[in-house]
Amino acid sequence: MKYESVSQALDALNKHQEVLSAYNHAIGVVYLDAATAAPKGTWEGRGKTVATLSEITYNLETAPEVGEMLDWLQLHMEELDPVQKRQVEVLRKSYDETKKIPADECIAYSVLLNDAQAVWEKAKNDNDFDAFAPYLEKIIAFNRKFAGYYNPEMEPYDALLNKYEEGMNTQTLDVFFEKLRDALVPLIAKIQEVPQIDDSFLRRHYPVEVQRKFSDYLMEVMGLDRNYCGIAETEHPFTTNFNNKDVRITTHYYEDDLANSMYSVIHEGGHALYELGADDCYNFTVLQGGVSMGIHESQSRFYENLIGRSRAFIHAIFPKVKELFPEQLGDVDEEMFYRAVNKAEPSLIRTSADELTYANHIMIRYELEKQLIGGTLEIKDVPAAWNRLYKEYLGVDVPNDAQGCLQDTHWSGGMIGYFPSYALGSAYGAQMIVKMEEELGDVYADVAKGDLSKVTGWLKEKIHRHASFKKPGALFEEVCGKFDASHYTDYLTRKFTELYDL
Ligand code: ZN
Repeated sequence: MKYESVSQALDALNKHQEVLSAYNHAIGVVYLDAATAAPKGTWEGRGKTVATLSEITYNLETAPEVGEMLDWLQLHMEELDPVQKRQVEVLRKSYDETKKIPADECIAYSVLLNDAQAVWEKAKNDNDFDAFAPYLEKIIAFNRKFAGYYNPEMEPYDALLNKYEEGMNTQTLDVFFEKLRDALVPLIAKIQEVPQIDDSFLRRHYPVEVQRKFSDYLMEVMGLDRNYCGIAETEHPFTTNFNNKDVRITTHYYEDDLANSMYSVIHEGGHALYELGADDCYNFTVLQGGVSMGIHESQSRFYENLIGRSRAFIHAIFPKVKELFPEQLGDVDEEMFYRAVNKAEPSLIRTSADELTYANHIMIRYELEKQLIGGTLEIKDVPAAWNRLYKEYLGVDVPNDAQGCLQDTHWSGGMIGYFPSYALGSAYGAQMIVKMEEELGDVYADVAKGDLSKVTGWLKEKIHRHASFKKPGALFEEVCGKFDASHYTDYLTRKFTELYDL
């Protein structure tokens, strides 16, 4: 074998990760530029660059030398430290996943996804599910097949879930979603029968330039260091990270909707704090960055909802909100503002759902994906099944497929098994705050003074600093004990019973 010593093999391991990290950084900057600053007409050259860079990274990741290096290191695992072991493990998983898919299927699938994206956009615009159906059919078939490559011992949908949330399975999720459904469906129905909250003042005119100042203020309150965290404006808000000293968030301003960008900034700011809080040692390795979608969403939703939609937080920021928007909020007090940003209302569109009803949108998608991959639901029956579940879980009638089963980009993008992470994240967060208060006492007293240092300090110590070193399930259990969704349902029940005086 070509390595003469462990240290020689580790040099190769480090070099490999540095090179991969550099290519990913470059690709990420190109994407960020495309979403934020690049003029419309510049897409062609960028497409070529991204294709070339992606091909290079694919070849780098799957090179036979990498397989040999991993084989060699796996024979010497007892000589590696825990971080190096985890690096080998993560690289091996992605190497196997990529290598197991035959090249011709891999190419056919990326061509399919490329076409599906355009077909889906048009189908959504034209409210024409039949146009998208044959593509969805093929995407489901590919995913079922790939699931067997990823992990032949697992049920296909479990293997897909594992791509996004290592260790997750339908057994856990069935229990989780059943618990949510039993608690939330009646609660949401009850709210429909009582007087609704007035949030109309959030739709007055809020100029973008003042909203930008508001974002700066929110980032300051969150403790986001602007030397390391930038903010830009895009169609859809997102966070992108290059290393623990370079994270970017984006938002979208609507002049007739104050809460929209406000909560985008806090949500993406939560993702950013996770990335910025990682220990330096993980930079430029495969362990850099948050460990899973579920843990990532637990952080973003923690700041967005458990902090950002708390009375304490609204109390802290309300004087500044009034100062920035004296005319728009002249007749509004702190309690009215708190109630308005917490208004719960069953709706058709997942991305604009409130804190209470959000999880129901997810359980519908979970139910359908499970049946599609399991082969118990035919593609042509998706719209009817979708509409039936929206009626059952949210009490709303879906008027058309554009606002129904065609609304999300995930299926056309091949991301089957991704949705559950959103709901899991919210539930993880609700259990984290219980643990945090057990250890630190009433953290909201500090939040009410605009001081989030205790909250962020605890999350950094328990979650952020570990980056991807620990597996998501193990990380969560070490911090919170066994996952128990009743923390989440209890929290929502308590909060909305009080809010709506049920
Ligand atoms: Zn998010």
